[in-house]
Amino acid sequence: MEGRDGTVELVVGAILLSGGVTFYLVFGPGLLSCGGIIFGPILLIFGLLKTDRRPVLPMNLPPPYPPLPRPPRLGPRGWLSGKACPRCDSSNPPNAMFCIACGAPF
Ligand SMILES: [Zn+2]
Repeated sequence: MEGRDGTVELVVGAILLSGGVTFYLVFGPGLLSCGGIIFGPILLIFGLLKTDRRPVLPMNLPPPYPPLPRPPRLGPRGWLSGKACPRCDSSNPPNAMFCIACGAPF
């Protein structure tokens, strides 16, 4: 009676509940009808709880993309040796006439 996904509890609980209700309606209050009416909903609740905790399988996930190549860094340390712009302080190639970041002339 231990279903891993709660289906067994749901089915047995529904059978017990409907059976208990049927027994109650046909034979009146008794041991079987009370047992079914009491344990049927309990099993149904357990089955529902188990069903909710079922892990959701990832489906149709896209394959992981390779990391994009980083653009060349043009910050203050982008060039090993070069000129620092007096206006924006970004580094430029040593033979630069104008700043490649802001266009300020050297
Ligand atoms: Zn600049």
